[in-house]
Amino acid sequence: MLGIQKILDIFKVDENEVELNRERFSALVKQIPLMYGILLVNMITLVYPHVGSAPDYLTIYIPAVLSIIFIMRAVGYLRTTLTEVSDQEIVKKLSGTIRLSVVLSFVFILWSFELFYYSNDLMLVHIIFFLYITLFACVFCLLHIIQSAIYLTFIIIVPSFLYLMAQEHIVFKAMAINSLLVSTGIIFLLTNHYKNFTGLVRQKSMLVEQRKKLNQFNVENIRLANMDMLTSLPNRRNFFAQLNALTKSYEGHPNKRLVVGLLDLDGFKRINDIFGHPTGDDLLIKTSERLASVLGEDITLARLGGDEFGIIITKDKDLKNVMAIGEQLCEAMRADFRLRDGTMQIAATVGFVEFPTMADNPQQLFERADYALCYSKQHSKGKPVIFSTEHETIIREVAIIEQQLHEADLDKELSIVFQPIVDIQNQKVMGFEALARWNNPTLGNVRPDLFIRSAEQMGTISKFTVILLRKALKLACEWPTDLYMSFNLSTYDLASPETILNLVSIIEKSDFPSKNIVFEVTETAVMHDMERAIEALRLLKLQGAQVALDDFGTGYSSLSYVQRMPLDRLKIDRSFINEIDTDNDTKNIVRSIIDLCNNLNLYCIIEGVETESQLNVLAEIGGRYVQGYYFSRPMPPADAMKFLTSSLNENPKKALPEKWSAL
Ligand code: C2E
Ligand code: CA
Ligand code: CA
Repeated sequence: MLGIQKILDIFKVDENEVELNRERFSALVKQIPLMYGILLVNMITLVYPHVGSAPDYLTIYIPAVLSIIFIMRAVGYLRTTLTEVSDQEIVKKLSGTIRLSVVLSFVFILWSFELFYYSNDLMLVHIIFFLYITLFACVFCLLHIIQSAIYLTFIIIVPSFLYLMAQEHIVFKAMAINSLLVSTGIIFLLTNHYKNFTGLVRQKSMLVEQRKKLNQFNVENIRLANMDMLTSLPNRRNFFAQLNALTKSYEGHPNKRLVVGLLDLDGFKRINDIFGHPTGDDLLIKTSERLASVLGEDITLARLGGDEFGIIITKDKDLKNVMAIGEQLCEAMRADFRLRDGTMQIAATVGFVEFPTMADNPQQLFERADYALCYSKQHSKGKPVIFSTEHETIIREVAIIEQQLHEADLDKELSIVFQPIVDIQNQKVMGFEALARWNNPTLGNVRPDLFIRSAEQMGTISKFTVILLRKALKLACEWPTDLYMSFNLSTYDLASPETILNLVSIIEKSDFPSKNIVFEVTETAVMHDMERAIEALRLLKLQGAQVALDDFGTGYSSLSYVQRMPLDRLKIDRSFINEIDTDNDTKNIVRSIIDLCNNLNLYCIIEGVETESQLNVLAEIGGRYVQGYYFSRPMPPADAMKFLTSSLNENPKKALPEKWSAL
């Protein structure tokens, strides 16, 4: 059994050497037709002198059968297309060739021996010549299937050597020895060549493999460079690449539309600050999953960075549908999130813009979607907003404001109005809030929230603050010394040490007592850069000034901020007061804030009181310090002085608490 197996192994071709087998086969396809051609020609030239002297089966029938086999095999190989042959077929064909070469060698040697029988010495030499020359031709054609070449040599050389050695004539013996030596040399050359050949093929396939890996690596690199690692969504670069490609492909197709959306979480920074980054990451991953499930496959969702997500809607959707998608997104975000630190709630705001109607290039699409998002954050937090012509008008107006601000003579055009802050228990004016006014020769009176924001965006707000503080202090010097003056600071003022030092120097130079100055700052201003803002406020407090937290309730209203800031006062935003006499919940919230201030030893000022009914509710829940149209709108300095001498201040019902009399 073992012996048979060994014999069978001779014909075996290693299936695992896929590349090597393919290379061998490729060489074979080119060389085998040539080999059969040589065999055919040699066989015909051999038999021709023997026709008549040897029997027909040796000179006609056997050569005829062999010729048919040669031609068929040669044609078969000529028609082979390498790429169409599978790896398994190649293995089969190679082993088949080895088997056939052994069989044909035996046929040839037996046939030649039969011919010897009918030959004279000259013919014998011819046959031996035929055998050797054919053998060497075949061996070179079969170079790449080393087994075939070696078996062929053995099968032909060994019997012919023995036969020639048995002949008497010394020439035959010499030929025998000669053939043995040459064939040994040829086998040696063959094995060497084959070794080189296999080495080269392996090296080549290794290179191919390396290149394949490098390509895979490159593909993976490109994928990673375009993917957000945390959420596995497309990243900012990918988002803009898609947007660029899409807008370019829509050029010349005015009817094709797309919508770009920007979504931002409301209060994500707070969650990150309070619960730490792992929880923040967890929230971002869950957010991306939630958004993706609302948007589906057809809409692109990308993470642009932080808590900002980008959306591209290409399927033709009218703006009503887009609004509905936006509402679904905000709705989905309002549901509880189950995170590693427990269940949390967060809202999201989204802004959309349509291409090409409202923006016609990627940059403008992004800017306008961002504008719609910011607009929504300010006016309808937690709801979608689509960029419209109204927004375009606002942008245009802002651009005009910015242009006029550039050219304005600020010292001349800026002025101050004062709004009183009243102690309702004592019916006494405690102080005034200084509010900026800008009267421009071209634009007339511009709303302060508009020009302040423009100045902030232009980076020139500090110039305004310095001019305004100087003017406000100068005017306040005319007041009775027990009144305080509240002055608003911007985010950018707090972030600029240079501005703070300027303010300190203005305070020092002023005759108005610094302990009567209150700087009003908002939570967003402080949150921007908490450490720096706190440092700035401390510096102002060192001058004796006080600090009030403005618009409380509109920002994050986090107690941790209230505690960390060096506060003296807190101003409840007027949005609470609107409903205080009609909505019980609002009333309770305001009551809690007043209690909180009492506990933290902070003065609590209630802004935006417009009606008597609101004032009565406030008095009932313990509110004491009030600012609003009910008492007075902001007024020019001269009117403020008149207001002081009005009836309100003439009959204080009660004496001031000790803390207040210091003001
Ligand atoms: P703010 O600091 O919250 O100022 C209070 C605003 O509420 C003032 O608007 C005031 O006129 C208004 N207000 C007061 N009582 C009532 C009321 O009963 N009902 C209603 N509806 N409104 C009331 P104003 O003067 O238009 O100022 C708007 C905002 O502009 C200010 O809000 C402040 O953020 C900013 N601002 C004004 N002056 C300055 C300034 O000198 N520097 C800085 N950085 N910002 C300023
Ligand atoms: Ca204020
Ligand atoms: Ca305010």
